Amino acid sequence: MSSELQVKVAVITGAARGIGLEIAQKFHSEKYHVVILDYNKEALQDCKAKLKGKKRYSYFLCDVSKPKQIQKVFDQITSKFEAVHALVNNAGIAIFKPAQDITFEDWNDVLSINLGGTFNCSKIFYPALLKGQGAIVNIASISGVRASTLRIAYGTSKAAIMHLTKQQAVEYGNYGVRANAIAPGPVETEMAKLVHSADIRTSYADAIPLARYGTMEEISNAVYFLCSPAASFINGQIIAVDGGFDAAGVGLP
Ligand code: NAD
Repeated sequence: MSSELQVKVAVITGAARGIGLEIAQKFHSEKYHVVILDYNKEALQDCKAKLKGKKRYSYFLCDVSKPKQIQKVFDQITSKFEAVHALVNNAGIAIFKPAQDITFEDWNDVLSINLGGTFNCSKIFYPALLKGQGAIVNIASISGVRASTLRIAYGTSKAAIMHLTKQQAVEYGNYGVRANAIAPGPVETEMAKLVHSADIRTSYADAIPLARYGTMEEISNAVYFLCSPAASFINGQIIAVDGGFDAAGVGLP
């Protein structure tokens, strides 16, 4: 087998920017070949420019809500590599609106990307994960643990991702593929800039015992740990990386 076939491979969705890009760089620093998937052409170009000259990265313009597009990526990756060792389902969108204002289109977009994308990528990459005896980490959210205003679609999609993770842990776990989820608290990214109003920021500041937002690095470290041999008996868990927000149990307005 050539050394290219033997290399460890991590597939990270929504990795052109934000938390996904940080996760991609973490796996790269741990010597993985990293496959970056994103549907935002401009963000993908910026990401390529940022990582220019670095080997062990592949880039794919791919919408995780579209199984045919994911299948094409899978075919290309498996023609080059024997197996996949980590899949991080990070791609997500947030639409924060009062329940009465959420449109059917908003609901479908959030559910088909956040939940559907997680299901689609896991299903399509499963045969390669099985060969690699790999691990899945799904990026949920503390908004899926605790219900609060404006998050009827987003929070529901993230809660469903947590249950999907447990199903995967039970069903794929029988064959040696582990699945866990991270539920991040607030992290300063483009998404947070878009949906975290001044009110939400004040609420988080009051409700998080560590009294700050998390960093992208704090999320990527936890994701990498769950994929690493150090977590070899951890399966079906939802790990909150939230500064104690969930433990404190204080509601948002
Ligand atoms: P972000 O918007 O900065 O990055 C998300 C990336 O996903 C973007 O590059 C975007 O183009 C990509 N993406 C979105 N839909 C896609 C699709 N259909 N196909 C492929 N790529 C797609 O957001 P972020 O804050 O880095 O969020 C990353 C993940 O973390 C998301 O799942 C989000 O819900 C979750 N999260 C974020 C926070 C936070 O406070 N930032 C908190 C909890 C959970």
